[in-house]
Amino acid sequence: MEKYWHILISSFTDYAGYLWREILYPGWGNYFYWLVGLSLFFWLLEVLLPWRRQQAPIRQDFWLDGFYMFFNFFLFSLVGFNAISNIGVEAFNDLLGLFGVENLVAFEVQSWPVWAQLLTLFVVRDFIQWNVHRLLHRSEFLWRFHKLHHSVQQMGFAAHLRFHWGETVVYRTLEYIPLAMIGFGIQDFFLVHIFATAIGHFNHSNLKLPLGPLRYIFNNPQMHIWHHAKHMPRRYGANYGISLSLWDYLFGTAYLPADGRDIELGFEDVEQYPASFMEQQWHPFKEKQAAQAQEENARTIERV
Ligand SMILES: [Zn+2]
Ligand SMILES: [Zn+2]
Repeated sequence: MEKYWHILISSFTDYAGYLWREILYPGWGNYFYWLVGLSLFFWLLEVLLPWRRQQAPIRQDFWLDGFYMFFNFFLFSLVGFNAISNIGVEAFNDLLGLFGVENLVAFEVQSWPVWAQLLTLFVVRDFIQWNVHRLLHRSEFLWRFHKLHHSVQQMGFAAHLRFHWGETVVYRTLEYIPLAMIGFGIQDFFLVHIFATAIGHFNHSNLKLPLGPLRYIFNNPQMHIWHHAKHMPRRYGANYGISLSLWDYLFGTAYLPADGRDIELGFEDVEQYPASFMEQQWHPFKEKQAAQAQEENARTIERV
């Protein structure tokens, strides 16, 4: 028990120190400044090459989404996720140890050239995330959390990181075992993470930058906007791609019926969705209670 407690405390202090160093020392290996740089880059492109010309460069919810970027990228990890996941990993390894499993690695990629390792990590991770994203739409419970991302009504690069912290927990947990089996360490994530962040910013931006045939491989604003469409003919949506659109084309979930430049975004009753950060954090939990109360009510009425 003491071991877990020690991990909890040192996770907090290590991460606080790490975050502080990130801010103090800009450099090429620095997440904080990469996020700032990428954001400025895509914001500038939105100003220079806007897809919806009438949309203001400082669009609706620009600052809220800006806050989400830093919250989800840094603060959430600082507040808890880093600690929870470190304990989770340790406990998981201990559990495996009980069954005599000392090493999860099933494929040895460490001997491959670096570029092949990074490419494999990028593709495998993106495919896992595509599946997780589909799950977020199909499970009623998870959809309550994912709705926050779909509450964007005016699209821009910063909408990329507008999501509930619960999503981070779901993605990281489901990613962990397959990625550990391939034998990727956390240090491999940096380049892949930065590249994926750039594509994520890109496919949410108000930008017209045609990719040509590459659009069948990489996600892009013209495709991803349909993922956010308010009115969807398919019950669970389409275009689940995170970085790659390839999976949607391969598995028949691609949907691009027309130019989606001016389509309405969100979901049914999106206007009633809470507008402030704190309310949005509580909403998935409250919505569950509301749904339960409604069910109870219906049952009572039935009995009467
Ligand atoms: Zn979605
Ligand atoms: Zn999105």
